[in-house]
Amino acid sequence: MIIDLKSVQDAPRHFDFALQPDWWHPEGEDDQVLGMDGPLDVRITIYRAGTKHILEGRLSGTLRVRCDRCLEPCRHDLSKEFRLFLAPPPATAESEIELEQEDLSLDFVVSDEVDLEEIVREQIYFSLPMKVLCKENCLGLCPSCGANLNLEKCGCPKGEGHPEFSKLKSLKF
Ligand SMILES: [Zn+2]
Ligand SMILES: [Zn+2]
Repeated sequence: MIIDLKSVQDAPRHFDFALQPDWWHPEGEDDQVLGMDGPLDVRITIYRAGTKHILEGRLSGTLRVRCDRCLEPCRHDLSKEFRLFLAPPPATAESEIELEQEDLSLDFVVSDEVDLEEIVREQIYFSLPMKVLCKENCLGLCPSCGANLNLEKCGCPKGEGHPEFSKLKSLKF
């Protein structure tokens, strides 16, 4: 959904829509977001502030993501509010640095148009935690044989695994 910023003058414009699960296409096989469980509700308001535009948005829905430890698909509830400043790109590199320090969420728009779906896509990635886990105590995969240790015990010798994993194991037993 492409919005021409020139069409947003004194009155704010609202864009409320739902993106259906078939909207999401993972970027390659290792995309962390596999898809969506049901529609994603999007509420966006764009208004003008001087020479800039401000975009405020809210996303809510359920994602299907891949657990970082065991690589199995799991659900991740998404509920996120965000705010972006839309401004033309700065003329010089110097002013770019200034602006970045001033406001990290300043989003430069090269043209007068913004693609709301592209913005939503970006915000979905930003909403993910550093480590996505299917459950807090996910045991992950055996580093030697690749078995999913949540589902089975493998016969590999202990102590050769990832340090984080052996720590978890000693906690458990
Ligand atoms: Zn897991
Ligand atoms: Zn193993």
